[in-house]
Amino acid sequence: MCGVRLHISVLPADNPQQAEEASHMGGNANHPCRKCNVGGPSQHIQTDEGYHSLYLMKSAMKDVQKSVTEMQTAMGTKDKITEYWIEILLTKAKEEKKRDRTKSVQQIAVELEKWLDEQPGEKMSPLLNIAGLDPTKDTPVEILHTILLGIVKYVWLMFHTSLTEADCNLFVIHLQLTDLDGLNILPLCAAYMMQYRSNLIGKHFKTLMQTMAFHAQDLVIPALFSLIKAVGKLSAVLWVSEIHNMDEYLSDLEILIANTLDAFAEVDPLKIVDKIKLHLLPHVVPDIRRFGPAPSTYVLSSAIIKR
Ligand SMILES: [Zn+2]
Repeated sequence: MCGVRLHISVLPADNPQQAEEASHMGGNANHPCRKCNVGGPSQHIQTDEGYHSLYLMKSAMKDVQKSVTEMQTAMGTKDKITEYWIEILLTKAKEEKKRDRTKSVQQIAVELEKWLDEQPGEKMSPLLNIAGLDPTKDTPVEILHTILLGIVKYVWLMFHTSLTEADCNLFVIHLQLTDLDGLNILPLCAAYMMQYRSNLIGKHFKTLMQTMAFHAQDLVIPALFSLIKAVGKLSAVLWVSEIHNMDEYLSDLEILIANTLDAFAEVDPLKIVDKIKLHLLPHVVPDIRRFGPAPSTYVLSSAIIKR
């Protein structure tokens, strides 16, 4: 007789919480991605190579700097629990140096290491001690926060801010007349969505990403229309509950993601640098191989948040 205990190594949440779980600084760090080492100083990002690296999942590790802050900025690593101890250790080291100037840095370091070992409590994120859990890989990109409240929201903002009052009204009429047959969405309320265009929630963006492409032609510049279509195509392929041929599916998805990023760069190149959610798109591919269809991690995170 033997017992087997299975546990799923997954930490679904929104991006800031996942960054925290992965001991990462978040989207404003020089290396803004919790899942890879992409990024660097702005001089690097401004080069062709640096800009293009944001489209990809891997880039070389940067060299190690001297001070703690420099190291954190260089690597984007910041652990809340370790941070608490780092503050204390830095103060203690300074005090010790002041108290006895004959002590070498090495001596102080040895003493402080011994002191730290004797202190009770956690010294680093307990998540790092869970066997089989890798917080950088096991924080799957979550489609509610990254796609609906991220990518689709950016597109919606670019779209409605480019419209005149008359075009807004025309779009509302067209949108309201959408044939919802075959669409898995709630009844549409176009006037409401336009009236509260800056305060929409997930279900509205889910409707817009599936329907905008059919009503935006001639209302916006061709580049923005291409972007709306690219996001529509991508989301149609992302929102599937079953994948029958994983290799084929992921290869299609990779192309649709690349098309979406290209379309964003065409309309507003700065978005690629500024918006970490865009860089997270290529990470969806390995996440789906690891965890299955993208909506499943969304269901999982809703269940966890409810609990
Ligand atoms: Zn990344």
